[in-house]
Amino acid sequence: MISRPIQRQLLTTLYDTFARWAEDFSFVCRKGCATCCTRSVTMTSLEGNEILTFLAASNRLPEIAEPAFQPTANRKSQCTTNTFVDAHLRGESVEEAENWDLRPCPFLKEESCSIYPVRPFGCRLFASMDPCAVSGVAEMPPGYLAGATALLQCIEHLDNDGCWGTMVEMLAGLNNKAAISYGEATAPIPGFLIAPEEHALVEPLLQGLFALKIADRPFKQWLEDARP
Ligand code: SF4
Repeated sequence: MISRPIQRQLLTTLYDTFARWAEDFSFVCRKGCATCCTRSVTMTSLEGNEILTFLAASNRLPEIAEPAFQPTANRKSQCTTNTFVDAHLRGESVEEAENWDLRPCPFLKEESCSIYPVRPFGCRLFASMDPCAVSGVAEMPPGYLAGATALLQCIEHLDNDGCWGTMVEMLAGLNNKAAISYGEATAPIPGFLIAPEEHALVEPLLQGLFALKIADRPFKQWLEDARP
């Protein structure tokens, strides 16, 4: 197991590495454009704890008890990112999640994110080359989603003994000290879903991240330590 301070450093390093990599793409997303900010954004409990720490520091923890943060009733169990990839790698068909809750994210205030510095990776990766408010579909460049998914997998892997679910589920669960009853247990990286034509774009992202040193150890070593 990795200590919480190291986990936080690893998460920040991953966020920063992804942000630098994503700068090379021409996305149209701007402040005030919030079509993708829905209650269906998913995250890990590791990221949820960062949000709770941020809210506590600004005396905003009571927000989590507001009706807008109540998880959707009768949720069905879902694949996490790593269990989804695992099923694909084994050639199994995966049932698409149903009934996503597309109401606005409760952290969206006046078309801006009110927890921007600690928004989870699911929010950071969402981007489009065309205005998705017009087309209803986010246009992502080839390989972009493969790179982003690989990093989602790394976050889930680092959150050993953690949970995965929608943001409202995770926050409600963490706040009630019962996160697992609101989401799915996290799983280790089973491999990555990177098509041959995506390797040239995604490998530098992954290898660059894995080589970065945190507390004198490469990121890749911390990934191995997270699931001994
Ligand atoms: S946390 Fe922020 S960026 Fe993410 S969906 Fe909510 S408002 Fe949007």
